[in-house]
Amino acid sequence: MAKIGFIGLGNMGLPMAKNLIKAEHSVCGYDISAVALDKLSAAGGIAARSLDVASMGVDVVITMLPGREQVREVYLGQGGVLASAAAATLLIDCSTVDVETARAVAAAAKVNELDMLDAPVSGGVSGAESGTLTFMVGGPEQAVERAKPVLDAMGKAVIHVGEAGSGQAAKICNNMILGISMIAVSEAFVLAEKLGLDPKKLFEVSAQSTSQCWSMTSYCPMPGLVPSSPANNDYQPGFTVALMLKDLKLAQDAARSTRAVAPLSAGATAIYQHFFDGGGAGTDFSGIIRYLRDASAARAEQS
Ligand code: NAD
Repeated sequence: MAKIGFIGLGNMGLPMAKNLIKAEHSVCGYDISAVALDKLSAAGGIAARSLDVASMGVDVVITMLPGREQVREVYLGQGGVLASAAAATLLIDCSTVDVETARAVAAAAKVNELDMLDAPVSGGVSGAESGTLTFMVGGPEQAVERAKPVLDAMGKAVIHVGEAGSGQAAKICNNMILGISMIAVSEAFVLAEKLGLDPKKLFEVSAQSTSQCWSMTSYCPMPGLVPSSPANNDYQPGFTVALMLKDLKLAQDAARSTRAVAPLSAGATAIYQHFFDGGGAGTDFSGIIRYLRDASAARAEQS
């Protein structure tokens, strides 16, 4: 079993670390939050006093951090992972960040002769808890093979998508589709209401027709149609509007820097931003249907 340093023990990182412990790996974790460290100790992990302690003397370092600033600081900063990790330590960043950051950190790791993978995830907190995440992995083939037994303890699928940064590219494109499709499904339900169409009938048709998609049949924003949807639990997350907005902004930045034309994701970003600014930040992203319904009601009042 491997010795693993786990940095970033938040909503995702802590349950991922717990699954590694369950699989009998030894986990030494670090987080700037003392509460997070206490939770790791309670779950059978070792709480490190500092970042370098979690990065030294381990086979693998895994990071699950909020964003690019923390990833750059934790890997490249003074007393950071690259300065502390011994030769042959495998580095796996599971955070969602921009492709450029993933490539820059992997390049710096290579200078230190360390293998690094970007391995962002899909599946959210429930997937992290149940060990059913999907990992989209960028980096060298032999490093992916080394990482597989460790990632398997936390997920149901490990997909090697290409060289360094490709995992982040896949994650950004996947969530761009998700953000847009959730708005599309929500718009259709709001229009169906206006047209007097029974939502159950729209669901029945869509589930068997060309508009079928995950946002409709697995995570439906309309209550009462898919039992596990946050819609049936007052849109408690799940996956917050704040995180969807973060990912759509990464997609917009990527589209700008590569000169890709992405008008629907630009529109989706603006719509989630309005919802976020109006107090929706902590709501599940499928709660966007509420924003659209309210906007429709306001328009009806005006006319
Ligand atoms: P979170 O804010 O709950 O956890 C992040 C943790 O990192 C916190 O405990 C924080 O204290 C710690 N941290 C911050 N700076 C640190 C530093 N310098 N050193 C050590 N620890 C530090 O966030 P989360 O929801 O766990 O998300 C983590 C990553 O996973 C993000 O990149 C997010 O985009 C991605 N993600 C989240 C979800 C989700 O549903 N929450 C789903 C897929 C991907």
